[in-house]
Amino acid sequence: MMTDWKTYAYKALLYGLHSTRIYKAAKRAYAGMGGILTFHRVVEPRGAFSPNAALEVTPAFYDTIIAHLKAGGWRIVTMTDLCHCLRRGSPTDHLVALSFDDGYRDNFENAFAICKRHDVPMTINVTTGFINGTSFPWWYAVEELLRHRDKVIFNRSGNMVTLPAKTLPQKMAAYRLLSAAFSHALPRDIAQLLDSLEVLNSVDLRSYCRNLLMNWDMVKTLADSGRVEIGAHTVTHPALRLLEANHAEAELGASRDALAAILGRPIEHVAFPYGSRQAVGRRELELAAKLGFTSAVTTRHGTLQPEHRSHLAALPRLTVNGRYQSLKTIDVFLSGTSTALANRFNRVVSQ
Ligand SMILES: [Zn+2]
Repeated sequence: MMTDWKTYAYKALLYGLHSTRIYKAAKRAYAGMGGILTFHRVVEPRGAFSPNAALEVTPAFYDTIIAHLKAGGWRIVTMTDLCHCLRRGSPTDHLVALSFDDGYRDNFENAFAICKRHDVPMTINVTTGFINGTSFPWWYAVEELLRHRDKVIFNRSGNMVTLPAKTLPQKMAAYRLLSAAFSHALPRDIAQLLDSLEVLNSVDLRSYCRNLLMNWDMVKTLADSGRVEIGAHTVTHPALRLLEANHAEAELGASRDALAAILGRPIEHVAFPYGSRQAVGRRELELAAKLGFTSAVTTRHGTLQPEHRSHLAALPRLTVNGRYQSLKTIDVFLSGTSTALANRFNRVVSQ
């Protein structure tokens, strides 16, 4: 989670750039062929305590983005079409892919309807364990626990700690502490941390998470619609870089195979969980290529350039932060200005 001064700086930067129109100049050098916008959830705001608000845009904003892109002459494409265009390397293409990670239920209930209305495709990268109910997005489990409790008991390295969670600042502080514990845990310890929270606080976090995520019927309906491309996003959503090589390969391969078997179609694209440098290294990019994925996306910030045809296993994306639901942000992203600034003026962002 970004600290306040950082988020303000981010906002000022984006808005400042937009108002001074520097981005128009940057556009010639950095806009390239377009970009892959990353989303997670499309939901109405859920009150002051929303520690994951960065992952959430409203249906109205999502609708506005698509209308704005269409009006601006952007062609909204699937990842398959996008890779095809990148391989062809036509620098005049003006492409945007709408990419969703994890497999939240509101992708089915809200985002899909909006895409249908606009007649545009989307790509959803599904964590198969989330759909099976065998793995859980801890960030929402922790949020939900804190929303409903005045205090939370937590096993901090063997010591029982009671975290006050009555007021909004207390809930936010407790969320920061708990999310740090999860973020720093090894992948194999995350399920155990969740178990411990459930037992100590007598709560069923898993049932909450199940309602938050799609079921297989929903995933299948989307895949069969012809409008939604389903990509892989591992089985348990680990930071792959922290796993042994064979385990990392199994996470990627097993999620793809399960999706292909259930949906009856090949799964050609993958998004790496978390997608940061800490979670994805060169080995993971090589694994995705070895497993035969046509493309793999990270969360490195960048637009798409013709040179990406040689880096399809390490495509950057432009993550839409729900705290800044403004079309100016989208314009600055697609202008390439933020790519230049985030990557020391490096134009082709890959591994
Ligand atoms: Zn994810």
